[in-house]
Amino acid sequence: MTYRGMGRRGGMGPGGECVCPQCGYTVQHQAGTPCNTMKCPKCGIPLVRR
Ligand SMILES: [Zn+2]
Repeated sequence: MTYRGMGRRGGMGPGGECVCPQCGYTVQHQAGTPCNTMKCPKCGIPLVRR
């Protein structure tokens, strides 16, 4: 479990965000729900942690 702050500040909260690597769809990360278990509603592919 690696978390790197990539210099981005001003996030939506401590939970971070999940983003679609294809279209950029972003949703707030929910505790207990890994990003890769959620899918982009547009692309149908797993989201990734940002
Ligand atoms: Zn997408």
